[in-house]
Amino acid sequence: MTQDELFKVLVAHCKEYGFIFPSSEIYDGLAAVYDYGQMGVELKNNIKQYWWNAMTRLHENIVGIDSCIFMHPRIWEASGHVSAFNDPLIDNKDSKKRYRADVLIEDYLGKIEEKVNKEVEKGRKKFGEGFDEAQFRATNPNVLREQAKWDEVHNRYVAAEKASDFAEYRQIIIDCGIVCPISGTCNWTDVRQFNLMFSTSMGSTSEGANTIYLRPETAQGIFVNYLNVQKTGRMKIPFGIAQIGKAFRNEIVARQFIFRMREFEQMEMQFFIKPGTELDWFAKWKENRMKWHVNIGMGAENYRFHDHEKLAHYANAATDIEFNFPFGFKELEGIHSRTNFDLGNHQKFSGKKIEYFDPEEGAAYTPYVVETSIGVDRMVLAVLSHSLHEEQLENGETRVVMSIPAPLAPVKAAVLPLVKKDGLPELAQEVMDLLKYDFNCQYEEKDSIGKRYRRQDAIGTPFCITVDHDSLNDRCVTVRDRDTMEQQRVPIAELRALIDAKVNLNNLLRNL
Ligand code: ATP
Repeated sequence: MTQDELFKVLVAHCKEYGFIFPSSEIYDGLAAVYDYGQMGVELKNNIKQYWWNAMTRLHENIVGIDSCIFMHPRIWEASGHVSAFNDPLIDNKDSKKRYRADVLIEDYLGKIEEKVNKEVEKGRKKFGEGFDEAQFRATNPNVLREQAKWDEVHNRYVAAEKASDFAEYRQIIIDCGIVCPISGTCNWTDVRQFNLMFSTSMGSTSEGANTIYLRPETAQGIFVNYLNVQKTGRMKIPFGIAQIGKAFRNEIVARQFIFRMREFEQMEMQFFIKPGTELDWFAKWKENRMKWHVNIGMGAENYRFHDHEKLAHYANAATDIEFNFPFGFKELEGIHSRTNFDLGNHQKFSGKKIEYFDPEEGAAYTPYVVETSIGVDRMVLAVLSHSLHEEQLENGETRVVMSIPAPLAPVKAAVLPLVKKDGLPELAQEVMDLLKYDFNCQYEEKDSIGKRYRRQDAIGTPFCITVDHDSLNDRCVTVRDRDTMEQQRVPIAELRALIDAKVNLNNLLRNL
């Protein structure tokens, strides 16, 4: 299967098993808006809990807030979003389809990278054990030709990005022969800037109504509460404020399922520090956040940093943590050194002094900020796309299994009476009652045991607990492991401890 087909399988699986549905589906859906179903919401909540506890419980100097989506419209002037939160758009005149010019170029560069990697893999196969990748990359004519093409386009792109030269974006697209995937032509319009914020009005009359924006990031809710939290929490610098909440962006290129949505959720933490210490803190948070990701157990090789060459208007250092999605390495989290841009501007626009008196320095200053910002939905996609497998079994059959890391799995254990009679459902219910306070469990009595196992594999349940006739006498049950499919006989009284050892989120947190 191609990556594209695999991705389609994932999207279909997410719908079939209640993870993610297209929003407003009975009205044919709403583009780039998705709803989480009964499994998706549990997975999402577990991811949020892992992040929230890692931030607020493991750091005594980080506290959380929950600010509103609606905020004073001047906030978005102060933050620069009204003037600068734009995407460069380009239309294909034949298909009338709209694209992000930067994404077209980045995808083109990505394809060249793919070609180079394929050549390298061919070389590795051909030369076997003694393969020297560095030497191969430095000498193979095909690799050198592709690499030279990549360098040239990349240099032009970076220069155009730095200079915000949108005519050059268009020229690169034309020179590279990038065509619209729908029409197949290179008939492009000029590149235009498009603001991504959604607006609405607040107030009862049209004259008295104010235009307000749906927040495009949660960070500003933290900045405008900086003084409140610092004073009421008697926080001393360095300290952080964390928040999880919805954000809205009128994304034009809304593809790739929940990777790019118009309504999504962010987990952001702003860390307030003394000016001059920002690059040290930036390095610390880079390391801390990478550790949080790798700790989940989806393979360190699937993450990488991508340092920004062009910095946003507020940043003096920035990096992305990229994940190996089915469509290549793409941004999962951003880490930015935001200087005192936001607090400084809110001070200017609001007229309120936003400073910290540093007792050690004996002086007041506007704190600098290092931000970590991750999309909940992109994390969900990372977990789901990494976890879905089709396995070939020894008996020739196949099984579809979602090997979601156990502490994040939506359902931790399924309790299955072998048959619907002879007192087995009653004992199974007793097992449910024993476990339900600690774990999200599912009771299922319909269909054969094999079918029930398959359904639980497909939603990623780490344990299936079967209650059979012997259980009535020996008060033991059969526990089947999702990953190994091995079965063991376990006393009911020991179930809680057995499940807990594998699924407790605190085990993940302890490794951080
Ligand atoms: P991109 O370059 O992919 O548009 P960004 O650099 O604009 O992302 P940030 O503004 O840094 O993203 O937002 C922080 C995080 O929020 C991102 O790393 C991503 O995980 C998430 N995010 C941003 N936009 C979206 C979206 N439209 N849908 C889902 N998640 C998003």
